[in-house]
Amino acid sequence: MAKMTVCILNSKSIDINEAIDIKDSGSKVAADFRCTECNKPVRPHRAGGHAAAHFEHLERNPNCSQSHVAR
Ligand SMILES: [Zn+2]
Repeated sequence: MAKMTVCILNSKSIDINEAIDIKDSGSKVAADFRCTECNKPVRPHRAGGHAAAHFEHLERNPNCSQSHVAR
């Protein structure tokens, strides 16, 4: 299953690596990452173990094809 690796930030699409850089930069600006499909809030998860870096919805959205259960 393809992971979500692109999101919207300030009306522009950015990829997961940019999002993690922004998160890691310690910016005090709350980064408002949004799903490209449903426009709900998402957050970046860095790669770890067997999982590639990807975005996850803060709240699962059954109507969004990008909102997968995280397993
Ligand atoms: Zn979504």
